[in-house]
Amino acid sequence: MKNDIEIAQEAEQEHIVDIAEKVGLTEDDIEQYGDNKAKVNMDVLEERDLDSNLVLVTAMTPTAAGEGKTTTTVGLGQAMNRLGEDCAIAIREPSLGPAMGVKGGAAGGGYSQVIPMEDINLHFTGDIHAIGIAHNLLSATIDNHMFQGNELGLDPNKVGFSRVVDMNDRALRNIVVGLGGYGLPREDNFMITVASEIMAILCLANNIAELKERMGEIVIGYTFDDEPVAAKELNVHGAMAALLKDAIRPNLVQTLENTPAFVHGGPFANIAHGCNSLTATKMAMAVSDITITEAGFGADLGAEKFFNIKCRYGDLSPEATVVVATARALKMHGGKELDELEDEDLDALSGGIENLEKHIENIQKFGLPLVVAINRFPHDTEAELELIRERCEDMGVEVALSEVFAKGGEGGEELAEKVLDLVENQESEFDFLYEADKSIKEKIETIATEVYGADGVEYSDQAEEQIERYTASGYDDLPICMAKTQDSISDKPHLKGRPTGFTLSVREINISAGAGFLVPITGPVMTMPGLPETPSAEDIDIDEDGKISGLF
Ligand code: ADP
Ligand code: MG
Repeated sequence: MKNDIEIAQEAEQEHIVDIAEKVGLTEDDIEQYGDNKAKVNMDVLEERDLDSNLVLVTAMTPTAAGEGKTTTTVGLGQAMNRLGEDCAIAIREPSLGPAMGVKGGAAGGGYSQVIPMEDINLHFTGDIHAIGIAHNLLSATIDNHMFQGNELGLDPNKVGFSRVVDMNDRALRNIVVGLGGYGLPREDNFMITVASEIMAILCLANNIAELKERMGEIVIGYTFDDEPVAAKELNVHGAMAALLKDAIRPNLVQTLENTPAFVHGGPFANIAHGCNSLTATKMAMAVSDITITEAGFGADLGAEKFFNIKCRYGDLSPEATVVVATARALKMHGGKELDELEDEDLDALSGGIENLEKHIENIQKFGLPLVVAINRFPHDTEAELELIRERCEDMGVEVALSEVFAKGGEGGEELAEKVLDLVENQESEFDFLYEADKSIKEKIETIATEVYGADGVEYSDQAEEQIERYTASGYDDLPICMAKTQDSISDKPHLKGRPTGFTLSVREINISAGAGFLVPITGPVMTMPGLPETPSAEDIDIDEDGKISGLF
């Protein structure tokens, strides 16, 4: 089989005006970025109702083998279109750091990709750069404020707003700023841009006014008296919003089979909520009958946050969920190692089913019908695929084989039909798992026990103290955005399958008051990745005709 970029470069792209027309958008509704990309104007959201059926694609606990949520999302959209459905997809846009670091795209794979993949992976329409500059404007303003006399009494040791760059650059993780006689030197950090709270805000704001207001609420640090300082006190949130005037508008592109795709926003799935922008999801809903979207990591993180955070802020009510499972991941949860996955092993697979089962139960707790999509990989055997099917049927859930990677939309027709059946014939009783006005501890404990299966939660002294402080400052009614390992349903990365008998440890709790959530930290969090020994950038090249190669 050809590799992703070869497949993408052979695709017959339609002009973006034609793609827009497919979903009833005129040339006036979009701003074209060349022939095959466009920004969609925000007016569209106000002019139309959002009565589309919203379907979330999530997955079992990810393994190093790769589960294929984006590929499934793109393929399912293509399959829906083949069945004559009016469907659009909404997914995240990739960051340059990982694109230059590790091989493996973020724009789907095989015959289920969004295109132009070179553009989408290389700067795209510039959203992430704009977010980086808006973020760094605030960073610069903070140091300037302290340099110019520090009227607010911001404690240089308690500044909680770092700097960002869209590159994997571990040398910038810990830095000293203010050298050379310009103010007081202090320790600072760089994060990758997609970890910025500005990214999370852009992905939850409904419009530019809300974006500006939320950026003003960011807690940038604390005074010498330990009082929180909001960004709006520095009065640059208006300028930050001005820098984001284009970035907030969703990007319209197409899939390999010319299905309309909104590719927009990409916050981290640990310290943030890991979903594409609300504006992109709503735009897809405004123009189609079926909207397929994705959330990062496994269902314990991505889907939980999609439901409890994004759907809450966006007033969204999903109709159905697709849970992606692979024979490979099931075998790993049943005890196999990454290099042992090519051989059939029904015992290991059977042992790993309990991981999928827990995620299924969790989706059901939100009142949503679901279908398991078995994402077929080349070495999967018929017996393995049959066993997954049987076990899902035993659990009473729908299951479909998905071959969208190898076959495109045609390989997703069974899945699309099952999703349509859920949407049309099964009632969604969607509800949040907790009410936002519950206490911070009650909310954390609900997620820990109900979703992760923990016996309880233990808090460090620091976390206890922060809970008191946030409660006193009135931040206790924010939803929870758990920062937890993606490798286990528990907070212990080595616990595969369906962990039981553990206590969730909360070390500290960060506040993202602009994005609108509290972030309990339960393990090491990496906000600035590094490059591997041989970065994928070494393979990427461009020839004299402008043709890109080596990008996945
Ligand atoms: P996720 O969104 O869950 O992170 P992706 O859809 O991005 O997963 O897929 C992860 C990687 O695995 C990508 O490089 C993709 O091309 C590859 N992949 C996904 N599904 C398949 C499949 N069925 N066969 C082979 N490779 C696949
Ligand atoms: Mg993905």
